[in-house]
Amino acid sequence: MMRLLIMGPPGAGKGTQAKKIAEHYAIPAISTGDIFRANVTEGTPLGLKVKQIMADGGYVGDDITNEIVTNRLLEDDTNDGWLLDGYPRTLQQVEHLDSVMTEHGVHLDAVLCLLADVDEVVARLHLRAVEEGRDDDSPDAIRARQEKYLQETSPLLETYRERDLLVEVDGLGPIDEVTRRIFEALDAHSEQLSKAAATPAAP
Ligand code: ADP
Repeated sequence: MMRLLIMGPPGAGKGTQAKKIAEHYAIPAISTGDIFRANVTEGTPLGLKVKQIMADGGYVGDDITNEIVTNRLLEDDTNDGWLLDGYPRTLQQVEHLDSVMTEHGVHLDAVLCLLADVDEVVARLHLRAVEEGRDDDSPDAIRARQEKYLQETSPLLETYRERDLLVEVDGLGPIDEVTRRIFEALDAHSEQLSKAAATPAAP
């Protein structure tokens, strides 16, 4: 049973690592970016609405995004846990997720943050643009996404740090090496938590 968030700047490799973590814990990796992209590809009403926002590197509105996640977390495969990739990205989304979890009577186990240098991630995204041709990997969109991340999303890490949930891992290096660091850090984090739980409170 594991409920996790994976955060970090665009290009840090969240999607790649999310799949490995999800497989390891046998939980679904839920990526709001993937959900939006699938809707764009299929040309659904939601896809038509978010296509331009995504291409510009902006954030899809909180109301739409929150609703997507709320509905996804009602599906049967989420009963034993989940990993959210790319959500929450704003304070309003943090608060929404809190209220959804309270309603379900569940809590987060950890918030994983992949650390990566801006120049390095921008270089990776330019490479991905050439290889995969994602609409939002144009140079302007890449810059816009980095800027949005710094302004709106990176401050959320402090919120989770205050809750003792933040687990930071260096995201640079070979994929498997980063994966190994992630499991090591998550294991250390849960060990710390169980130790804290076993220590009797001071009288
Ligand atoms: P990356 O990790 O490279 O930033 P994602 O696949 O996570 O890419 O997201 C791609 C785009 O989808 C974002 O730039 C944004 O437009 C939209 N998006 C994804 N998740 C959210 C979210 N939680 N809130 C608002 N917009 C989102």
